[in-house]
Amino acid sequence: KNLGRDRYAIFNETMRTHSVSRFQLEMELRHAGDNKQFRLYYQPIIELASGKIAGFEALIRWLHPERGTVPPNDFISIAEDTGMILPMGDWVLNEACHQVRQWQQQFPQPHPIFIGVNLSSCQFVRQDLSTTIAATIQRHQIDPSRLKLELTESVAMEDVDAAIQQLTRLQQKGLYISLDDFGTGYSSLSYLHRLPINSLKIDKSFVDRMESIRENADIVETIVSLGHRLKLDLIAEGVETSTQAYLLKQLECEYAQGYYFAKPLPRDQATHLLVQNKRWRIDD
Ligand code: C2E
Ligand code: MG
Ligand code: MG
Repeated sequence: KNLGRDRYAIFNETMRTHSVSRFQLEMELRHAGDNKQFRLYYQPIIELASGKIAGFEALIRWLHPERGTVPPNDFISIAEDTGMILPMGDWVLNEACHQVRQWQQQFPQPHPIFIGVNLSSCQFVRQDLSTTIAATIQRHQIDPSRLKLELTESVAMEDVDAAIQQLTRLQQKGLYISLDDFGTGYSSLSYLHRLPINSLKIDKSFVDRMESIRENADIVETIVSLGHRLKLDLIAEGVETSTQAYLLKQLECEYAQGYYFAKPLPRDQATHLLVQNKRWRIDD
């Protein structure tokens, strides 16, 4: 149905196995929250000019007793289809705010550490989103500009007028908004201009091999200058090599995250990076 009406599709054995295992996962997911099986992992976001940690992106993990760590791509869509994403999203937001407040107090800096939190489309369409989030950050005493809400470009483009309204409400509360996976969601550039956002996250697919594929390097360069023209910050995702980090710094992309710096880490390992006052050298 998602593909449109007046279609048919053949149901086969692979699909049956798939739906059975999805059903199984759904059953287990229902108990995961009560059993405290969710964790937030934190991936550092590096300010390229200084090589220092400017913030973290919070990424959910499901620590399953038998399956091991289940990645979000395997369960977020189930959580969205069943409505479980709403309590899950509240938990993520609360946990992330609690953690960043602790870090801000433990490691005071002129620019306090920020936290990126991903929003699902189900959360984004809620009328009460901005008031719920405002209440959460107030409870945790966080400056709203230090919470960066990540919304994928495709979700923002589904209904642009509704998105503009919602983003305006969020910005009025002082919250900061990043457009995630930028470049993959077919943004109309005229809409981009109207969207009240603060930063673009350049999708990993363009950062990948930007050192060897001219086309990728060109696309990244174009996104960076487009972003700057619109007075937006840029965050490059999926940086895996020192050359990519260096090229991005040359392009004056403000921030980067990726396995080259660190994978998403459990809380204590992320804290350890701050204890070390970790700084990456970014040069050729
Ligand atoms: P995203 O928000 O675009 O997050 C970036 C993803 O890229 C993360 O995958 C991260 O682990 C991965 N990544 C970062 N650097 C590298 C790299 O250098 N190389 C490679 N190969 N991968 C890298 P993850 O954690 O599996 O999350 C996947 C997606 O699931 C996220 O994409 C986000 O859309 C969603 N997600 C994660 N946590 C949450 C959450 O709490 N709420 C919601 N609604 N969605 C979430
Ligand atoms: Mg994200
Ligand atoms: Mg992304």
